[in-house]
Amino acid sequence: MHDDLKLIYYPDPRLKKMSQPVPADQFGPNLKALVERLFVVMREHKGVGLAAPQVGLNLRVFVINPTGEPDADRAYVNPVLSDPDGEDDAEEGCLSLPDIHVDVVRDIRMTITAQDVDGNTFIERADGFIARIWQHEYDHLNGTLLTNRMGPVAKIAARRKLKELEDKYQLVKKTR
Ligand code: ZN
Repeated sequence: MHDDLKLIYYPDPRLKKMSQPVPADQFGPNLKALVERLFVVMREHKGVGLAAPQVGLNLRVFVINPTGEPDADRAYVNPVLSDPDGEDDAEEGCLSLPDIHVDVVRDIRMTITAQDVDGNTFIERADGFIARIWQHEYDHLNGTLLTNRMGPVAKIAARRKLKELEDKYQLVKKTR
């Protein structure tokens, strides 16, 4: 159903758009298929998380798998982050920004309230790596990319890679 959805890359404008909540009547098989597709694309590209806008769909949905184990798959629909605690910086990458690594300050601990694919609300609290993935993917739902989290020095360091991605995007757009 969603097999045509593929990873999109910076500077595709769909990555910079605010994503819309999944409405109550959209839960069910279609949303389940989208989430399954997100897991497939995430694994294909060896990621630990993927947000729906990264396959060109501006919906508030993301999936994560922090360990690579099949039972660690988690999907979050209409997530809300709250109760941040602590601060830490660490290097992050993004599947939509290949070969770019950015030091990002994030909250260490975070609570997430979200719905599952059937529309049931659940709450989780995590720290460290999982809390960081949540914040990275949540950024995607608001059109925020690692490029928005870069300081001036990181921007200069990444300038060539970003230019390469921009040139590639123009080329792909022309041949489409
Ligand atoms: Zn990302």
